[in-house]
Order: sequence, then structure tokens, then C-alpha cells
Amino acid sequence: MTDLLCFGVQCSTQPLSRVLSVDLHAHSTASDGLLSPASLIRRAAENGVDVLALTDHDETGGVAEATEAAKACGVRLVPGVEISVTWRGTTIHIVGLDIDTRCEALQAGLASVRRGRQTRATRIAADLARVGIVDSLEGASRYAGNPELIGRTHFARYLVECGLASEPRDVFKRYLSEGKPGFVLHEWASLESAVSWIRAAGGAAVIAHPGRYRVTSQKLADLAREFRDLGGTGIEVVAPSHRPDQFVALARFCRAWDLKASAGSDFHGPGEQYLDLGRLPALPHGVTPIWADWAAASCGAH
Ligand code: AMP
Ligand code: MN
Ligand code: MN
Ligand code: MN
Repeated sequence: MTDLLCFGVQCSTQPLSRVLSVDLHAHSTASDGLLSPASLIRRAAENGVDVLALTDHDETGGVAEATEAAKACGVRLVPGVEISVTWRGTTIHIVGLDIDTRCEALQAGLASVRRGRQTRATRIAADLARVGIVDSLEGASRYAGNPELIGRTHFARYLVECGLASEPRDVFKRYLSEGKPGFVLHEWASLESAVSWIRAAGGAAVIAHPGRYRVTSQKLADLAREFRDLGGTGIEVVAPSHRPDQFVALARFCRAWDLKASAGSDFHGPGEQYLDLGRLPALPHGVTPIWADWAAASCGAH
């Protein structure tokens, strides 16, 4: 990591006069984002983001383009991924940060998750056909920038095009969330596999948006323990789906479970009601930012 990451720690050679803008969760057209990797980076630069992680779902194919664009724009790009996981019957997301995308174990694992997405997409389309929505696989595929990576967001955009809802959020409410006609139960990667792939790639594993999971606090504590024992590093404290009181609760959670805190906009594209790149509230006090390690490492290297 470069000295750009000298944030929140004493760095004798390069003290910073301002707080860096760090956003460690964003999507491009390599998964279900609306902007190409290069356009995403340009928008990050326009928004004053210093450090951005590209974390496409189950895919790292956008990282090369993003890295090139980041060099041109002066943004520090953190190569990342967001892996779909089934843990005790619940879908959760594990973000991998600062990964080496050339890692074979990681790439083989992600390819297996992507194959599962194809099977699930066929089943989603069959379920939607049963309620009268035909040809949705073809329709959704038109919205998928990456043919290997088809997700519910692409179905949602197509159903909006069909006039079945005014925005993707409504499609999720009516068709694509649990208990609705287009919802298909799917077995994703195991937690153990996801963390091991990220670690094999030299990265740090982070539990994405924990506030979104419908689990009891006991179950969340079980997840944290298991995750930490597997070698997980952090949790997202600041995420667009978290309320300010959850920032505080999750900061306590970090301290209790000795996990580092991450922050990300989970940006998918302009106009889709997500937080814009870099427009993040500050982390609460008393947590260790996950990027502090990187800063310390780069400071030591001077
Ligand atoms: P998938 O991994 O294909 O099941 O899709 C998950 C993605 O769907 C998330 O990353 C979001 O981009 C999107 N998503 C999930 N729930 C909602 C929702 N309620 N409203 C809008 N988008 C959603
Ligand atoms: Mn998404
Ligand atoms: Mn997610
Ligand atoms: Mn995401």
C-alpha cells in the first residue's frame, strides 16, 4: 500500500493535513453496478475519494481496468470482491479487500459461485414465468454487463422496464425477496471457503453490511466468533443500510470481538438510491479502521 493510506496513524515522514476519504465497497458493470470500472473511478475522483475498493459480486474482472483508471485519476484502488455465502441457511456477504486477483484458489472459488448464479437465474426465470412474467432471463441478461454474472439486480431492472414497478427496490419487495414469487433459495459458498479464498489471495475478509441480516444478536455473535476463528479481519460498521445507532452498536461489537471496522457506500450507480461514492459518515470513535494496518505497513516501509 502506498503512503496515501497514512490515515489515522502517526506517520513520521508524511503527516497528512486532512482526513482521507476512504470507501471500501463499490460495484461496477463487472457485476451489478451501472458504471464501467473506469467510469466508477472517475466518479470517485470527482467526489474526492482518495481510496476506493472495487468489490464486485463474486468477480474480480473489473479490477484491471479500474487499476489503470485509478492511476490516471490519482485514486488509490484497493482490489476487492464481495463473495456470496450461505451461513446457517442465511445469505450473507463477505468482502475481500486488498486481494491478489491472480490467486488461483480465489479465482477457482469465484468461478464456482458464478456457475451457481447461472443455475439460479434459470430457476428465477421459471418462477417468474409461473406468475406470467415471460422471457425474463433474456431480459435480465441484457442488463448484465458480464454474462457470467447475472443477479437479481438485473432481473429487477428488466422488470422495471416491463412496467411492473417504478424502481428496482419495489421489484425486490414484490418479486425477488424471500417469500415472493421470484425468490429462489440458493446455496452459495461456505463461510469457511470464502474466508480461505480471500486469505489465500493475501486479503482481509470483512463481514459486509451486518445490519441487513435478519438474525438475532446471539446469531450475529456466533457469526463473529466463527468468522474470527477462520481468520476474518473486520466488519462493515458504516454501510448505507445502517442507521447511526447501528454504527454505535457495531462499534461495540468490533471491540467485543476484536474486529476492525470498515466503511463502504455499496455504490451501484447514480439514481438507484444508494449512497454516492465517498459520501460516508465517519467511523465512530474507539474502533480500529481496517485501513490503519495498511497505513502502518506503508509508513514502516519508508
Ligand atoms: P444477488 O446477489 O443476485 O442475490 O443480488 C443481491 C443484490 O441485489 C444486492 O447486492 C443489491 O445490489 C440488490 N438488492 C438486494 N436487496 C435489494 C433491495 N431491497 N432493493 C434494491 N436492491 C437490492
Ligand atoms: Mn449488488
Ligand atoms: Mn452485499
Ligand atoms: Mn455490495
